[in-house]
Amino acid sequence: MEYTPKEVAVMSGGAVGGGRLVVCVTGAGGYIASWLVKILLSKGYTVHVPLQVTSSLAGDKKNEHLKNLENSEKLVLFKADLLNYGELYSAIVGCSGVFHVASPVPLGSVPNPEKELVEPAVDGTLNVLKASADAEVKKIVFVSSTAAIFVTPNPPENNFYDEECWSDTEYCRVTENWYCVSKTLAEKRAWECAKERGLELVTVCPTLNLGPMLQNPVNASSLFLVKLLRGDKDTVPNAVRGIVDVRDVAEALVLVYEKQEASGRYLCSAHCVRTCELVDILKRMYPNYKYPKEYTASSHDDCLSSKKLQNLGWHFRPLEETLADSVESFRGHGLLE
Ligand code: NAP
Repeated sequence: MEYTPKEVAVMSGGAVGGGRLVVCVTGAGGYIASWLVKILLSKGYTVHVPLQVTSSLAGDKKNEHLKNLENSEKLVLFKADLLNYGELYSAIVGCSGVFHVASPVPLGSVPNPEKELVEPAVDGTLNVLKASADAEVKKIVFVSSTAAIFVTPNPPENNFYDEECWSDTEYCRVTENWYCVSKTLAEKRAWECAKERGLELVTVCPTLNLGPMLQNPVNASSLFLVKLLRGDKDTVPNAVRGIVDVRDVAEALVLVYEKQEASGRYLCSAHCVRTCELVDILKRMYPNYKYPKEYTASSHDDCLSSKKLQNLGWHFRPLEETLADSVESFRGHGLLE
């Protein structure tokens, strides 16, 4: 839904640069950010898009889907690497809000995780925060993860995790959980920098995202479901997993940006499901895929509450809808052949 001119005028009052309806989205071509950009464009926002390699969508296989979005004429493209402060500043200046979504999410293990995962996540985040402060951005929404919440040798009572919980980076290092190191350190540094520079920061920590893909190369969380459907492994751990629809995550990001009262961290999870239960639901819906045949016991038995986000007005869709739309999307991308 587009805002009326009166609403635009109210929202722009006192804002820096192009007003409240001009925002920057990092990692815009990725799985979550593509849905975020789609929603922002549909609401009348102008979206600054820093692209790593080029400032054009033509022939850019990772990002060219963005030009097919409705209102794509409101995208403003910049050649800007997250690790280059000057380039990033150029993409952010004139925006009232920044959605920092970009972070390395590898499809498998990487040879040098400190260099390839931790450094870009942390240094990229600090660059975004510093450039936002220098450009007098009003509000920053940072996509963290439950990876920054629940990886600890000392779980809370009843394994019930909320926004107060933090992953233990030393424990993550020892257990070689490098993605969790990168997300936890990046979010911690973001909070420190926001405090130092007096920035308004809100973070959203989603669980595993599923749902349709707008982008072309498959992303890591979608690949988890693709592998279950293809029965890539006969035996899988029977972990309890938080699942959330990528479209509901994108809505959550817009919600915390637009709601003035939003503050602090927000856990974002819709359904807690054991792997064998997830497979049973899928089998009922799609009996002809291969699926794993056996399960190993898993100590992952975590329970996550999104009460804080729901109290802000967030809703999520049923799991079956997410799964059906995922499968349809994977078929369209030829991932299940
Ligand atoms: P994705 O599709 O892989 O998107 C990640 C985006 O970050 C890509 O556009 C990527 O651009 C960009 N990026 C990575 N390193 C970069 C760098 N050094 N400079 C500039 N851009 C860089 O993954 P996603 O699932 O949408 O994840 C988006 C965010 O959500 C991440 O912060 C992730 O940690 C978080 N998250 C995801 C999930 C999930 O289940 N999907 C759950 C919780 C949190 P290139 O492709 O050009 O490298």
